[in-house]
Amino acid sequence: MNIDKDSVVRFHYTLKDDRGEVLDSADKSSPMTYLHGHGGLMAGLENALAGKSSGDQVEVRLSAAEAFGEREDNAEQRVPLKHLGGARKWKPGMTATVHTEQGQRQVTVLKVGHTMATVDTNHPLAGKALNFSVEIVEVRPASAEELNHGHAHGPGGHQH
Ligand code: ZN
Repeated sequence: MNIDKDSVVRFHYTLKDDRGEVLDSADKSSPMTYLHGHGGLMAGLENALAGKSSGDQVEVRLSAAEAFGEREDNAEQRVPLKHLGGARKWKPGMTATVHTEQGQRQVTVLKVGHTMATVDTNHPLAGKALNFSVEIVEVRPASAEELNHGHAHGPGGHQH
């Protein structure tokens, strides 16, 4: 079957920047599974997968604007260490999670003091074009429960 609204899609991928550096990947041991047409993936990636089927290989390039946005200047902020999520000890270069009024966001730690850290609030992948190499492993209809929840269940999806 071809990927359409309410398909559940399992896939593997490798994500590279324009210099060919691997930023992220998901293979057999950690597949990604999502419910198509419900905003589970970046819109540009979902659009590129529409109509494809199991076994297809898809190359997708998203510009920075289509992915995590352009990098903003003056994005440095001082944040109490206790507000950084994701690790106990912080070093410059690490990625932390911060809760803001706009929800959870990823930031990059620049400096670490005794109680405060300086972070760059740009998403770590802001300003980068993303090149996805996707291999579609499985396409199946969503169950009634999955449609109800608005996400896919099983390996690579929500487990609950
Ligand atoms: Zn669910």
